[in-house]
Amino acid sequence: MKILVIGSGGREHALVWKIIESPRMTKIYCAPGSAAIGELAELAAIAPGQIEKLADFASKEKIDLTVVGPEQPLTLGITDLFESRGLRIFGPNKVAAQLEGSKAFAKEILQQYNIPTAASGTFIDAMLAKQYITRQRAPYVIKADGLAGGKGVIICQSRREAENAVDEILVRKAFGEAGDKVVIEEFLEGEEASFMALTDGEHVLPLASSQDHKRVFDGDEGPNTGGMGAYSPAPVVTPKMHDRILQEILAPLLAGLKKKGIRYRGVIYVGLMIAEDGPKVLEFNARFGDPECQPIMMRLKSDLVPLLEATLDGKLNEVSPQWHDEPAVCIVLTANGYPGVYDKGKEIRGLDKLRNWTNGFVFHAGTIKQSNRWLTSGGRVLGVTARGESIAAAIKEAYRGVGEISWDGMHYRKDIAQRALAKV
Ligand code: AMP
Repeated sequence: MKILVIGSGGREHALVWKIIESPRMTKIYCAPGSAAIGELAELAAIAPGQIEKLADFASKEKIDLTVVGPEQPLTLGITDLFESRGLRIFGPNKVAAQLEGSKAFAKEILQQYNIPTAASGTFIDAMLAKQYITRQRAPYVIKADGLAGGKGVIICQSRREAENAVDEILVRKAFGEAGDKVVIEEFLEGEEASFMALTDGEHVLPLASSQDHKRVFDGDEGPNTGGMGAYSPAPVVTPKMHDRILQEILAPLLAGLKKKGIRYRGVIYVGLMIAEDGPKVLEFNARFGDPECQPIMMRLKSDLVPLLEATLDGKLNEVSPQWHDEPAVCIVLTANGYPGVYDKGKEIRGLDKLRNWTNGFVFHAGTIKQSNRWLTSGGRVLGVTARGESIAAAIKEAYRGVGEISWDGMHYRKDIAQRALAKV
């Protein structure tokens, strides 16, 4: 089977790393990939947004299965395009991907099918949005409707701040078209967790729970990022909570989508607040989380490819993946300045010492290779990921790996997975 992975970050590095161990695979490509992914797969220089070019490439190379990493091609309709050309592709179609692409659409479905989530209002008019704010209590959660690279959520302590956030989004267009609508939400208290599942539109196959760390500094301080690290499983998702998430969220979600004539096939990622009275949806993503994908792929014992095929064939009820019991932890190493303007082109030292690492792997998120030297090229640079017998052992092993690596201005959080440690 010829497989094409779309994307170039740590998540796609992990997907390629996992897929190449499959006996089902004969050849693997990645578009556009990265130098590090190029050590495992053949690269095609096509950006994820160039969906026509990707379809031409998949036809020409007779790709049997395309796996989409990032959200952008999904919301552009890459799945609809590939399917119209008879090409098999893993990821929801354009309408289904609106669950991630439009927070207003997601909220509408959540409310319509009584799925627990924060109370909210959606507005296109700044004055009406501000009137709504006067009727709510602080803190206020103000969200741009569309894709904003994880930056479109502003949590405001005062009414004035909230009104300003509305103006930023709707009037000053800080997020461009993504801010044509604004969603104002009730602030939820609790512990955050993520839950990923595969679905073929009929059946749900839970993958594993995980927790990421969005803020740039230890103790959840500083601005939000794309993710500073993740671990799996997340102890806050107890077996009882796991069942509640399936019953109270995923089952009614799928039933609701079906009633609307929407067939969702792919990964559904549910961002959750585990509140005192149960799990509540913060957001949906239409693809694997990054960096959550990295520890999850490391924990997956079974072949990933049959799971992806079963998703497309509507046969998820016929597969039962095996998992390593050991937890896995991913520490993201970032460039100086990230998530603001950051350094590039710094030489990374120490990667060679982890080449044959038995208990871990270094996934590359933003690196290039020049004359045999690895240089930083992105804000998130590496995802140092390791498994261990216990969460404590996995943390220790992952940080041991981090200790081997250095560059000028390298930053990482020292407290990844501490919350899990406190729970066991
Ligand atoms: P989202 O992209 O919607 O998941 O939001 C990004 C982050 O903002 C979440 O991971 C939470 O930390 C925070 N957040 C979003 N919505 C809420 C809410 N209703 N209450 C509290 N925190 C929230």
